[in-house]
Order: sequence, then structure tokens, then C-alpha cells
Amino acid sequence: MTAPRASARQPIVPAWLDTRAPAAALAARVWKHWAPPPRMTTTEWANAFRYLSAKGSARPGKYSAALTPWISAIHAALDDPAIHKVVLMKAAQVAWTDGVITNYIGKRIDLDPCPMLAMFPTMESAKDYMQEKFLPMIEVTPRLRAKVDTSGSRKSGNRGLFKNFAGGFLKLSWSNSISKLKSTPAPVVIIEEPDDASANVRGQGDAIKLIEERTKTYARRKIIFGGTPSIKDVSAIEDAYRASDQRKFFVPCHACGQDHVLEWANVQWDESGPEAARHEVYGRALPETARYVCPHCATSWTDAQKNTNVRRLTCRATAQGRGVAGFGYLSELYAPWHESRMQRLVERYLEAKHKADQGDSADEIVFVNSCLGLPYEYAKGSIDEEMLKSRAEDYPELVAPLDALVVTVGVDTQHDRFAIIIRAWGLGEESWLLYWGEIYGNTTDRSDPVWQELEKVIFGPFQHETGAELWTSAVSIDSGDGNTSENVYHWVRRQHRMGKHYVMPIKGDSEQTGQKEIFTVPSTRTMDHRTPTKASKFGLKVWHVGTHKAKDLILGGREGAGRIRLEGRGPGRIHFYTDVRPDYYEQITAEVKAPSRRHAGKLVWQQKAGRRNEALDCEVYALHAARSLKLHIQPEEWWNRRRAALTQSDLFGRREEPQAVPLDEQAQEDETPANPPPPAQATQPPRVSSRVGGLGRRR
Ligand SMILES: [Zn+2]
Repeated sequence: MTAPRASARQPIVPAWLDTRAPAAALAARVWKHWAPPPRMTTTEWANAFRYLSAKGSARPGKYSAALTPWISAIHAALDDPAIHKVVLMKAAQVAWTDGVITNYIGKRIDLDPCPMLAMFPTMESAKDYMQEKFLPMIEVTPRLRAKVDTSGSRKSGNRGLFKNFAGGFLKLSWSNSISKLKSTPAPVVIIEEPDDASANVRGQGDAIKLIEERTKTYARRKIIFGGTPSIKDVSAIEDAYRASDQRKFFVPCHACGQDHVLEWANVQWDESGPEAARHEVYGRALPETARYVCPHCATSWTDAQKNTNVRRLTCRATAQGRGVAGFGYLSELYAPWHESRMQRLVERYLEAKHKADQGDSADEIVFVNSCLGLPYEYAKGSIDEEMLKSRAEDYPELVAPLDALVVTVGVDTQHDRFAIIIRAWGLGEESWLLYWGEIYGNTTDRSDPVWQELEKVIFGPFQHETGAELWTSAVSIDSGDGNTSENVYHWVRRQHRMGKHYVMPIKGDSEQTGQKEIFTVPSTRTMDHRTPTKASKFGLKVWHVGTHKAKDLILGGREGAGRIRLEGRGPGRIHFYTDVRPDYYEQITAEVKAPSRRHAGKLVWQQKAGRRNEALDCEVYALHAARSLKLHIQPEEWWNRRRAALTQSDLFGRREEPQAVPLDEQAQEDETPANPPPPAQATQPPRVSSRVGGLGRRR
């Protein structure tokens, strides 16, 4: 921690008014008083000039950095020109917003102004910051009051969440409007509580990356990324901390002098004897006996001793950061506040544990996230990628093993590529991966060759182990993205005209209740011509996939469930081949089902931070395609007939494409809801029109 400079301790009548002082010294003092050099650190600036308003602080008056010594270490990283990004993974009550963000903004406005962007998780939190932190600072801090017009007059241009000042501006935004921020270049970008931002805003993580990219044009850029972590592996703040130099705050023991990072495991308390009455919530625990025990010498610390020791903390990096300074493991144990004393923390812990013992883990998650500043490990025993890899089977790519008899395809549409899963199915929905891969091209352009390339890859024929040929029976292709949906419809319409009525444009269902079935026939309402949709203009309807139920089936919710864990042969087994592209394992396990912070009490599938999940989406779509054929309920004799037909057709040297019943046309022609289509029939005569030529067709 840096001691404040002398200028911060000027008496009320400053020394430069002393006429006995020599002229040069007088000039120097005047300069120092009225225009502090830009080299002044953020901590020095805050100690010298910052005032806290009664509106925004429990302790109004002159700001003092001494109370929260970790803040000065973070200021030092913000002031360090070699650091372009500062990350803090933290508990809720550690003075981050006011001590770090607001002081830094204030110092930059005063001494080193520039454009600054701050992104909050919601519009409400952005407005709260403006009203409760930023404006109160301006009002009571004289040096800033002179520089920022807070009257809100139209003339000042400083209305709402935008504040102008000489040399720059401060613009507040929130995560759903993140795309608007991309067009505003600024050297200082603040991202507040990234884990509270809507996790399901498509491409959210990419948008944050884009904003970070925009700062790169500035030599002295600064990205500030801070918040309370959420669920382990899902948490964006945990991910950012892992990629940093992982600084921690080491607190020395007053008894033995050795230092360590404060941990909850070192907090101890007594229990009452068995004859004493049990507390309804605390049981026999006595929170009033809470103390901190030094792991080196076992000396017990009182709250006062702990707070004194914390003031002597040092901050050290524990990894290589390459310009990214990360601060973590900052729990409420560091905080000197009355509500953060150990007795209160133990009470909060016991209350949360009591609820968790009754099956409600919501408060336990809050305790771990907000008090301890740690990500909560919810999905214990999550699927191990290495274990999956060891279970890969020895069959060639694009060759269906003996019992794999019907092929379906799931396609995920990205702007620059298609991601593709081809899967072959057998009795009891046992299935074998035939292909995982991507083909690149511009899918926002319907004349791009990537659309033809897709046809080459997905329709077959694929080789069966017997030497027979298997043709694709159903395809589910993602049309959920507004920039590519019309192109997908256009392409699907073309497939239908060529007889491939088994190609379905789909959308992953985004509802969070998880009640939607994996496969449902679209209601006739979606074909109501009075309210034409984009799809109906193409004579199509969109099939909504129950993605939550599909992921439940494939990956399982918590502990131990999920088809992906089943080993050996039998119903529901998911097989994959040894030469599969290695990112298959990472992508298939890229989501966890965990409590949602935005939808309290609900378990939702969430993408792990920094992970791609297209392979999982494609698996969901290939399963949807299989369900459209009702493969999961076909009896053994159906599969036997199918195998016989397949090998016979091969004996006779026929190369026939099995046909699925036209899904779309059937439903379009009747106004009644369509029945789920019957499964593919190998014995049906081929219906491929003669004008269909080209790739993967009959010879
Ligand atoms: Zn000690």
C-alpha cells in the first residue's frame, strides 16, 4: 500500500499562503495544490480529494483507503501501464464498486480524462450506479463538481446514463444492449458483475470479447472486469481470474508473523454440551464463540486482531499474467464491517446449511458466492472428458457398425460455418456417432458454396459394416439465428423440392421451465396465414426442439444420470469412435445444469465459461431428428426387418435411399395437427425424382 503524499495532508490554511516561503517553492506548491501531476496514483487521489456522500456510503466524509487495504493493491494495478486488464473475483461486501471503480473513474475525470464505458448486468443496476454511486461522488467531491455538470439540463447533454466532461465521457450500459457498445470505442471499459449478465443472450461472451478488442487501438487501454462468481466452470469471472496472474492477499499473523490467504476453513466455533437446548437453526453450534485460527501457529484471532492483521496484508501473484492482473479469494473475512464480523458470518453459514439440509441449497450458493467470493461447485461428479475419451470405440469414421441402421443428422448454423453431427441409430435408441465436424463458409450468403458442401456431407450414402449403404433418414437444421434463418429456409425448401421432405428447419427452445418435449409437431397456428412468419413465406414451418429435455437425457441433471455415462452395449448407449475430432469431448460436456442466478430457484442448462458447445447442440438436433422418426419406440422385429432389407438390397446390388414420410407437406395440407411421421421404410420404393442429379444420388 502506498502512503498518501504530503499534499493529501494539507492543513486548512495551506502552506503556500505563507508569504515567507520563497517564490519558486510557492509556485511549486501552487502547482501541486491546484493541478496535481497526472502521475498521482489512484489511491493518492482518493485519499486527497475524494469525499463520500451520505447517499452512497454508511461512512460519509473524507475517503480513507486505510480501511480497505486490498483496494490500494488493485489501484496500483490500474495505474500500472504494463497492465491492460484488471480482474477481481470477490465477495459482495469488499468495497469494489465504490473503492475501485468509482475512485478510478473520478481520478480519470479529474487528472487524465478519456472516454469510458461501463457495462452493468441490467438497466436497473446501471441506473442504481448512476444515482447511488457516481452522482453522489460528483456532488460532494469539489474537484469533480467543477468538471461534471450534473444538473441534467438538456444543454449539458448529460442526461440519463451519459455524462460528458472535458476530454471524455462516461457512458453506462447493460448487457442486453451490449451490441450497441461495440460501436463506441473507448480506452477504458468496465464490466461490472459479468456473472449476473443474462447468460442466454446469444453470443454474449463474444460481445464482451469484441468490446475488449475495441480497446486495443489505444496504447493505454484498461479493461476492468469485476464481480462475484456464480457456478463453478460457468462463471465468467472465475474464467477471467484463471487466465490472469492470480494475485492473492496474504495476511500476517500477529503471533507467529507468517502470512496466508484467509480461508473459511480456519474459522472455528464451540458447540454446547448435549444437555443444553438445541437452537432451532444453529443446532448445538455457538456462533458467538466464532474466532479465526492461524493455520501456522493455531493462535486464535479476535475480530479486532483479524482486522489489524488484514491492514498489514501483502498482495502476491501466483501465476503468469501477460498484462492481466487478477485478484481473487477476496472473501468477506477481509472486511472490517460490523455485519462482516465472524459471529455474523458463522450465523449466515449455519442458516444456509440448515436450509441446504432440508434440500434448498439457494442460500448455501449465496454464502459461497457472496460471502466467500468463490464459485459454487454444484454439478459434483461432472462428466470427465478423459474418461469419455478412454471409452471411444474402434470403428472407422463414417462407417455404421452392425446394429446401427438409421442415420439422422443435426446441423448447427453459425455465421461462418456449419457444425455437423451424423449419428446412426439402433434398437432402444442406442446410437453410434458417424461424424463430427464443421464446414466453413459464409452462411449469411445463400449463394455461398458452403450450402452445396453441406449437401455433400450430410445426405450419404454412408457405409454400413456389412458393406451395404445407408442414406440419411432425417435432418434437423438450426434456423434460430435471425441473420441466417431465411437462407436456411431457402435451402430447406430446395431440399423439399428435391424430395427430401425429411429435412426440418428447427429452433432450440429457449424457455427455461424445461417442460417442452424433445420432439413436438408444430401447432397449425404457426401456419396461420393471417400472421405470416418468415418461415411460412417459404411454405415451411419451424420445429421447436425441447433442448432442456434433450440435454437432460444426454448429459443428465445432477450426479450420475445421463446416457453419456452408460457403458457397454444396450438401450440408450451413446457410442463414439476413436478418431473423432478431439474437441468433441470438450464440446459435448460444455454445459452444466445448475441454479440460475437470474431465475432464482430454477435449474437451467448453462454453458461453461470460455467453452464452445456446438457439438452438444448438434447432438440434441440429431436426437430430435431421431425422435421425429419415432426410433425410440420401434420394436426389435422392426429393426430386424430393417437390417434384412438393408443387406438384401445390397445382395441385389440395389442402391436405394430409404424414405421418410414428408413431414412438412403432410402438416401443411391438412389443417389438423400432423401425426408424428412414421419411421423410415427401407422397403418403400425410392421417391427420388429423376431431375435430382448430383452428389450422393443414385447411380
Ligand atoms: Zn500464527
